[in-house]
Amino acid sequence: MISLNSHPAGRHFLQIPGPSTVPDRILRAIDNATIDHRGPEFAVLGKAVIAGMKKIFQTESQVVIYPSSGTGAWEAALVNTMSPGDLVLMAETGQFATLWRKLAEKMGVRSEFIPGDWRHGVDPAAVEARLAQDTGHEIKAVCVVHNETSTGATSRIAEVRRAIDRAGHPALLMVDTISGLASADYRHDEWGVDVSVAGSQKGLMMPPGLSFNALSAKAIAASEQAKLPRSYWDWKEMLAINPTGYFPYTPATNLLYGLNEAIDMLLEEGLDNVFARHHRHAEATRRAVRAWGLEVLCLNPDEYSPVLTAVLMPEGHSADAFRKIVLERFNMSLGQGLGKVSGKVFRIGHLGDFNDLTLCGTLSGVEMGLAAAGVPHKKGGVQAALDYLAQTSSAPMARAA
Ligand SMILES: *Cc1c(COP(=O)(O)O)cnc(C)c1O
Repeated sequence: MISLNSHPAGRHFLQIPGPSTVPDRILRAIDNATIDHRGPEFAVLGKAVIAGMKKIFQTESQVVIYPSSGTGAWEAALVNTMSPGDLVLMAETGQFATLWRKLAEKMGVRSEFIPGDWRHGVDPAAVEARLAQDTGHEIKAVCVVHNETSTGATSRIAEVRRAIDRAGHPALLMVDTISGLASADYRHDEWGVDVSVAGSQKGLMMPPGLSFNALSAKAIAASEQAKLPRSYWDWKEMLAINPTGYFPYTPATNLLYGLNEAIDMLLEEGLDNVFARHHRHAEATRRAVRAWGLEVLCLNPDEYSPVLTAVLMPEGHSADAFRKIVLERFNMSLGQGLGKVSGKVFRIGHLGDFNDLTLCGTLSGVEMGLAAAGVPHKKGGVQAALDYLAQTSSAPMARAA
C-alpha cells in the first residue's frame, strides 16, 4: 500500500464520485486464483456476468464487456457505429460530455454541441429542434451523458428518446451512464437507448478496469455498415463468441469474479431499493449543503444527481485548498472540480456501497473541513441531514418520501 507518511488509523473515506469504495465481499471474490479463460469453469462465469449485466442495464438485448476503463467503451460505441466524417449531436452538460466529444473528433467523427451552462442536463426540446432542422438526416447519433459526474446533473433520457421520436429522426441514441448505472434508475430497453456505455468503478462498486456497452438491434445493424477502423473494440467478435461464455481475447478474469459478486449484491438488495437509497442520501446531502448556506451546482431539481452533489465554493475560496485540508485532517477524499469549474466546486460522492452512517461521516468531514479551511458557512448541515435520515426510513421498500 502506498502511504505518504505513517499509517492513518481507520478506513479512508473515498467520497469521490468514482472510483467508489469497494466492499469486502467484492474484494474477497476478486482474491481467487486466476483460471484458464478457455477452460470449462470460465464459461460458467462468462455466461453469468453477461446475463447479470443485462439485468443491471434492464435489457433483453446484448451486453459486451471490455477490459478497460469507461473511456474504452466510449470509443467502442463510436467506432462500431460510425463512419469517417459522420456527424453526431452531443450536449455540453459538463466535462465528461466535453471529453466524449474530443474522443469523437480524434476518431474522425464530426460533432456538434448543444451549448450548456454546466448546471443542467440536456434540454430535450433543444435536441428535438436541432433534429427537426436536419431534414437530410446528416446526424447519425445523439450522444448524451446520463449522469454528468463533473456537475451532479442528470439528463432525462426517456424524454430525449421522445424528442428524437417526435422529430421523426433515425439517429441512434447513445448514452454514457458510466456513473449512472446501478446508482440511478437506468432502462436501456424501455428508454429506447441504442448504445449504453458504462464502467465498473462507480455504481457497480468495483475497482476500475471493466467497461460495458449495451446494444440495441438497431445499433448492431448500424455496426454492420459502419466503416471506422476497429479491432480490439469490435462488437462482432464479442457477440460471436460470448454466447459460449468466452471472450475473443484474455478477459480480466479476476475483475469478472468481482463483477459477479457485485451483480449478486445489487440484485439481493433489489435495483429499486438501490435507486431509492441513492435518492435518499442525495436529498440528505443537499439539505446539509443548504444548511451550510452553500449552493448546489445543479439548478434543476428534476435533474439532481442521486450519485453525487457538486457544491459551489463561496467567491474567493479555493475548493482545492479545502479538499486538501479535508484529506490531511480527516483522511477523506472529495471530488475535485473538473474543467470549467476547476477550483470552484468540490464534489461529494454518495454512491455505491454507502449507508446512513457513511453519509454521516462524510458530511461531518465536510463540515469540520469548512471550519478548518476558514470557509464562511453556517453550522448545522450535518444536523439537517441527520434529521432527514431519522425521519425517513432506510428499510427496503418503505421509502415513500
Ligand atoms: C468516470 C466517467 C467517465 C470516464 O471513465 P474512465 O473510467 O475514467 O475512463 C466518463 N463519463 C462519465 C460520466 C464518468 O463518470
